[in-house]
Amino acid sequence: MIIIGAGIGGLLAGALLQEKYIIKIFEKGIIGGRFRNLPYKGFQLSTGAFHALPHGSTGFTAEILNKTRTPYKIVDGDPWGTFLVDGKEHRFKNLYSFLSYMGRFKISKVLFEMRFTKGNETPVGEYLNDNLKNETVNKVVRAFCGFGMSIDPNDIPTRSFFPIVRNLYKYGGPGTIVGGCSAVTNNLAKGKNIIKKKIKEIVIENNEVKGVIDSEDNFYEDNIIVSDIGIKETVKIAGKKYFSSDYLKKIDNLREAEGIKINIATKESILDHNGILITCDTERVEGLNQVTNVDPSLAPKGYHLVMTHQTLRSNNIKKEIDRGLEDVEKIFGDKEYEILLVQTFRNGFPVNKAANGHDFEQKTPIKGLYLVGDSAKKETMEVDGISKGILELYETLASSI
Ligand SMILES: Cc1cc2nc3c(=O)[nH]c(=O)nc-3n(C[C@H](O)[C@H](O)[C@H](O)COP(=O)(O)OP(=O)(O)OC[C@H]3O[C@@H](n4cnc5c(N)ncnc54)[C@H](O)[C@@H]3O)c2cc1C
Repeated sequence: MIIIGAGIGGLLAGALLQEKYIIKIFEKGIIGGRFRNLPYKGFQLSTGAFHALPHGSTGFTAEILNKTRTPYKIVDGDPWGTFLVDGKEHRFKNLYSFLSYMGRFKISKVLFEMRFTKGNETPVGEYLNDNLKNETVNKVVRAFCGFGMSIDPNDIPTRSFFPIVRNLYKYGGPGTIVGGCSAVTNNLAKGKNIIKKKIKEIVIENNEVKGVIDSEDNFYEDNIIVSDIGIKETVKIAGKKYFSSDYLKKIDNLREAEGIKINIATKESILDHNGILITCDTERVEGLNQVTNVDPSLAPKGYHLVMTHQTLRSNNIKKEIDRGLEDVEKIFGDKEYEILLVQTFRNGFPVNKAANGHDFEQKTPIKGLYLVGDSAKKETMEVDGISKGILELYETLASSI
């Protein structure tokens, strides 16, 4: 089997599938992709993820790491998160105090539907307005969707959102990785056959994959190719002519999830727990974590590392960053802090190559060509969604052997 891309998707797929296949992984850049540490002024920033997994030590990623005996340490958020509403930090259960008796009754019904029904194409924002119409709930959900998925509630259908709520109840909330993202991707890479070359072509004959060609024109033969480079790039190097116009149309309409991360150094702690602070009163910033509460080695001695996230809400990047920085000022109040680095994720290097609700199936129309990674997530958010997709791919391949 050939895997294109050694991001977390390619590496997790390689770890799980090596039990059944001899695997070559091709990587054009640095192992880990958007899931690795980015050392900066003594801090361990990251190329993407917040050194965290949506369902912590009990989610789908942890399931693959356990199955493949990959060493890792994740500290689950306790609490999973708190919510900054009207200038005060609240636990989830305290948010009920913002609701009238009728509102509490309605939210129980909404939560029941989220947990036990499938949902449909109705956007979450519209669903909440039809069923609840509560300003605080709208703010909380907007910030949650933004922090967790870089998407607005009006852009995610309930069929994609309800399973996330279900999975939060089932598998729990976020956990932080000791050592940061690289602690996982470096361990996954150990002992793997990773070839540091760019793949420029996926060779297809009679609607079946035959192998790949690297940038130095070497051909590698195989009848199973797993691509971790996103659906757009995969189809581009495979050749659009092999895909139906409907499939290509879906790719044209594909929406990436875009965002901005602000990395902050502070000597004064801003958060007294190891979960997420969802910020509901701010213009742009939707949440933050303080990873040094779990692993102080992610910052120089005496410092905390705080990372904020915001969905990119317009193409005016300067304006978006400025609004984010204003929010940071508001959140920190009179505490001292230093902005280390502002990172923008878009244009082929986004938060997710497919925003939740736009994901593709692992199986493509070409025999032997499969997708993993963040344009083929299943059921939940971010890397745990990637991992769920890989677990399903494993089942698909196992049943076809
Ligand atoms: C700001 C931000 C915050 C996030 N926060 C979290 C979080 O807290 N928790 C979480 O779980 N997720 C989070 N995510 C999402 C997560 O980081 C990504 O979903 C995940 O890293 C994507 O992994 P991937 O393997 O799909 O893609 P990538 O990491 O992009 O890997 C693809 C790899 O393929 C290689 N490649 C591309 N083309 C070729 C080619 N032609 N030949 C060979 N190699 C090729 C690339 O170099 C790359 O290494 C966040 C993302 C961002 C940007």
